[in-house]
Amino acid sequence: MPRSVLVTGGSRGIGLATARALQAAGDRVAVTYRSAAPPEGLLAIRCDVTDTAQVDAAFKEAEQAHGPVEVLVCCAGITRDQLLMRMSEDDFTAVLDTNLTGTFRAVKRASRAMLRARSGRVVLVSSAVALRGEGGQANYAASKAALVGFARSMARELGSRNITFNVVTPGLTDTDMIRTLSEEQRAGMVGQIPLGRLGAPEETAAAIAFLASPEAGYITGAVLPVDGGAGMGH
Ligand code: NDP
Repeated sequence: MPRSVLVTGGSRGIGLATARALQAAGDRVAVTYRSAAPPEGLLAIRCDVTDTAQVDAAFKEAEQAHGPVEVLVCCAGITRDQLLMRMSEDDFTAVLDTNLTGTFRAVKRASRAMLRARSGRVVLVSSAVALRGEGGQANYAASKAALVGFARSMARELGSRNITFNVVTPGLTDTDMIRTLSEEQRAGMVGQIPLGRLGAPEETAAAIAFLASPEAGYITGAVLPVDGGAGMGH
């Protein structure tokens, strides 16, 4: 049976690769986009996850087209890197509002139908930085670390309703998000990765698709690294 899937931040990068993987596996997939052009071949819904009303409207549109959302992937995320002394309060709260509160908004909205169905799969996209920290990324790392506590709390709160919550922590992945890095910065970071290369968005997508699959039905509260070994030891 094809499932109704919603991927937030599915217009490009890891979210788009995940949407394509789940669609190829036979699911009915809706993606949200904000500023990028809507991707072709998928139900694309404009939605800014910092706005509760837009999140609600996006779920309504996905539900009308595909039925109640059974699989939610929260991928929408931003960075606003800055050293602490130069980081404005707005840099901090904007990142938290998108990466953490945006996820809360989507999960809360999705939980209604999942509770009714007594079934659901939720995968949150965190980051290797969540566990190891990174200079210049205090806002981003804090938002991504919080997703682990959030997912594990949800796993305990909603486990009895057969709703699973898992987290992936990608390492450096070849998407627009890392285009701002200089060649030198990138080479330095790749040098720290045991597998010695960037990850492909499709590699994180495959891990997400597994955690969303029926075969992963007994996995909840897990944190799955997809980072070439960069975060080992946490
Ligand atoms: P991209 O910058 O390519 O994609 C980010 C996605 O998030 C886009 O679809 C964007 O939509 C969406 N988005 C951002 N802000 C909002 C918002 N307020 N409301 C709705 N959608 C929003 O990055 P990646 O694919 O690399 O990142 C995807 C996720 O993976 C992020 O959560 C990121 O933190 C995480 N990640 C990425 C890593 C990397 O190295 N690339 C490493 C670890 C984690 P639009 O384009 O329409 O604006």
